[in-house]
Amino acid sequence: MFIKDIFKKKKPVLSFEVFPPKQDSGLDAVLGAVKAMSSLPIDYMSVTYGAGGSNSKNTARIASYLKDNLSIPALAHLTCVTNTKEAVRERLNEYRALGIDNILALRGDKPKDCYGQLFPGYKYASELTEAIKSCGGFCVGGACYPECHPDSSSLDADIENLKIKVDAGADFLVTQMFFDNDAFYVFRDKCVKKGINVPINAGIMPLTSAGQIDRMAVLSGGASMPSKFLRIISKYQDNPDALKQAGIAYAVEQIIDLLSNDTDGIHIYTMNKPETAEKIVGVVNSLF
Ligand SMILES: Cc1cc2nc3c(=O)[nH]c(=O)nc-3n(C[C@H](O)[C@H](O)[C@H](O)COP(=O)(O)OP(=O)(O)OC[C@H]3O[C@@H](n4cnc5c(N)ncnc54)[C@H](O)[C@@H]3O)c2cc1C
Repeated sequence: MFIKDIFKKKKPVLSFEVFPPKQDSGLDAVLGAVKAMSSLPIDYMSVTYGAGGSNSKNTARIASYLKDNLSIPALAHLTCVTNTKEAVRERLNEYRALGIDNILALRGDKPKDCYGQLFPGYKYASELTEAIKSCGGFCVGGACYPECHPDSSSLDADIENLKIKVDAGADFLVTQMFFDNDAFYVFRDKCVKKGINVPINAGIMPLTSAGQIDRMAVLSGGASMPSKFLRIISKYQDNPDALKQAGIAYAVEQIIDLLSNDTDGIHIYTMNKPETAEKIVGVVNSLF
């Protein structure tokens, strides 16, 4: 099922993101986590694509497991980084053969050990989107950044480029994680003014451990952390149980506010942790 059609039938949409294991030996654990989450009332699940294509086989394996074994629509990520046009074509053929028809088209970032050409095929996600769309039979999503992508000079310039991606065929957007809902509302208004009318799924990452704090700052590309959020970190970072509980409560509060402001959907960065997803959905379930 195309994810764009899920947004047409039902709003708000609830989705989760999972990532493949670094080693094949970790695949069963990820499939176990995905299965545990499948009992929750989600509309689709997305599977990331390792930097530079590492673990791309497992992206396809997890996506087809979701679809075939758990009957959950799967969104497989695909990046431009280090992929030639031929490699992209091969990956698309693989996805098509497995019946995976939803793809999140991304530029990707420079992997640690990359000495070759960074973008041998497509330079921007918009070019990849256009290429996937021209093959036919795929629903394509794109990433967006409520507080501006780090490479862009301004939010307005970034939204200009986002419009190019949507005009190239992106059917829906998923945001980078953010902790300040007001920043999201400003971004959403700017998108509407720019004529970006596709659904925007809001990305929420619950803070569940002190070890995650630095990673969140990097992964979010410097998303602003409101003082309320920073106070939670400073007060509870040495108390794992309290930090987890407060982090989940903060995510729940963000979600309730987003849904009461007519957000198209909530995309939870689960970090492959079923119990965190269960706790959040347990509170907000009836809002979807
Ligand atoms: C929801 C989500 C999921 C992600 N999943 C993955 C994953 O699975 N694997 C992974 O490796 N990374 C992933 N990322 C990270 C992502 O690859 C990086 O943030 C990357 O830096 C940008 O990717 P993009 O697709 O947004 O790029 P683009 O849309 O290409 O934008 C990148 C930058 O280029 C600018 N730009 C775009 N088009 C043009 C143009 N025509 N001319 C000039 N400038 C332009 C943009 O404004 C932006 O600053 C994800 C990010 C998000 C938000």
